[in-house]
Amino acid sequence: MRILDPHVHCYSRTTDDYEAMYLAGVRAVVEPSFWLGQPRTSAGTFRDYFLSILEFERSRAADFGITHRCTIGLNPKEANDERLAAEVLEMLPEFARRHGVVAIGELGYDAITPAEEKAFVAQVELAMELGLPILVHTPHRDKRRGTLRSMDVLADLGVDPGMVVVDHSTEETTRDILERGYWAGHTVYPETKLTAPRFRNLFLEFGTERMLLDSSADWGKADPLSVPKTLAHLERHGADRADLQRLVWDNPIAFFGAHRLDLPEGGERPAGEGATHSSIREEHVSRPAGAS
Ligand SMILES: [Zn+2]
Repeated sequence: MRILDPHVHCYSRTTDDYEAMYLAGVRAVVEPSFWLGQPRTSAGTFRDYFLSILEFERSRAADFGITHRCTIGLNPKEANDERLAAEVLEMLPEFARRHGVVAIGELGYDAITPAEEKAFVAQVELAMELGLPILVHTPHRDKRRGTLRSMDVLADLGVDPGMVVVDHSTEETTRDILERGYWAGHTVYPETKLTAPRFRNLFLEFGTERMLLDSSADWGKADPLSVPKTLAHLERHGADRADLQRLVWDNPIAFFGAHRLDLPEGGERPAGEGATHSSIREEHVSRPAGAS
């Protein structure tokens, strides 16, 4: 089974995690821009962070045979620091146009404040201007209200629902997301929020169409192997392997677009070993001095 995990915060993972992911079948990942766990003190740290997920994580993943792509955005939580947010929104277009950026995100709501909405709208407009898909984060508290409101805002702005994944969906929201024509992302965590048996119920009810499965694998208690583990759970309970393959490979490719993902033919090779991407060769991928 080939796996593309469409939501992994590799920045917070170790090389052991990359190795384990490869052994479990993960061949490609998308790393969304997110909150780093503590408030930032200046917008410049966003610049460094965007470069890190565009360049350094890409080469770190490649060393383990995993193709790494990312999404660029100002996360909802930090949109509440409005001075910082204004500076970050200004720098986004420069990064969003880079090779390897497959969507704008994570966007949406955390505490559902006016400042979050302002940053959400500005970034949705940027995504539409650049023709990029959108990754929507939904709040873990007050999930249903935040999810419905995100979709209302997107509809008001005239966004094509097929260009949006509404992520961290649960039993509370998957039906609404799918019925409105969006992709429904499901983050399976080891214990909280959504578990493999609970995802199985959603899978039995909704099948594979516009369904995505991811691990998030962030700073909190999360598991970079939650996609392969969830697949194992589904298969042990009788799921069809072709359906599972569609769920974790064909679907994320259909959502992000093969041309944006630009997956190397024959799999990822360590940086410098004759990469076969169609466009990465033209782009300088820098590594910090002294990195091996
Ligand atoms: Zn995330």
